[in-house]
Amino acid sequence: MARTVLVTGGNRGIGLAVAQAFAKQGDRVAVTHRSGDAPEGVFGVRCDVTDMASVDAAFTTVEAELGPVEVLVANAGITDDTLLMRMSEEQFTRVLDTNLTGAFRCAKRASGRMLRAKWGRMIFMSSVVGLYGGPGQVNYAASKAGLVGVARSVTRELGSRNITANVVAPGFIDTDMTASLTEERRAEYRRSIPAGRFAAPDEVAGVVTWLAGDAAGYISGAVIPVDGGLGMGH
Ligand code: NDP
Repeated sequence: MARTVLVTGGNRGIGLAVAQAFAKQGDRVAVTHRSGDAPEGVFGVRCDVTDMASVDAAFTTVEAELGPVEVLVANAGITDDTLLMRMSEEQFTRVLDTNLTGAFRCAKRASGRMLRAKWGRMIFMSSVVGLYGGPGQVNYAASKAGLVGVARSVTRELGSRNITANVVAPGFIDTDMTASLTEERRAEYRRSIPAGRFAAPDEVAGVVTWLAGDAAGYISGAVIPVDGGLGMGH
């Protein structure tokens, strides 16, 4: 059955791969983008997840064009790494506001229609770093760990209405976010990953579409690692 899917930050990287995977299986897919054009083949809507009015407007547009959002993939995210002693409160708050509060804003906006429909899927894009920690990533790790609390609380609040909320925790994926790593650093990371390699965005997308499908209807509040064994299931 075709569903209406909204992927935040779906104009590139993991979000784009997720959007394309849903489109390929025949779903009605919308992505949010902050600048530029939407990728080909999916409906694009401008949205900055740090602004509730922008989130609300994006949902309203998607509802008018494609129908109520049945599957939310809260994927938009940023990093701003630096060591704790050097990290400003602004750097901490900005990353939390995008990665954690941004996901909250989208989940809150999506929940009304999901409740009415008595069906919904929320998938939050976390990271292996959320449960593993990472030097220089106090802000990012806190934001990604916070998503676990969000998904589990949503599960407890809305689970009886056929709404699931899960977390996907990727390890190292080849996108713009990891493109700035030096080859030396990449080799170092590869040595620590049991799979011995970074993954392609498609390998995350397959897990997301599966979580949104009927086969995963009894899975909620789960954290699914997609990290080549790096976190050992956390
Ligand atoms: P990219 O940097 O390639 O893409 C990030 C996306 O988020 C872009 O579409 C960007 O939009 C969007 N975004 C950022 N801030 C906002 C905002 N305020 N409002 C709306 N959209 C925003 O990252 P990835 O594809 O690598 O990452 C996607 C998600 O996966 C992130 O949450 C990331 O933390 C997570 N992740 C990534 C891993 C990796 O190794 N790559 C590993 C683990 C988790 P724009 O193009 O306008 O900037």
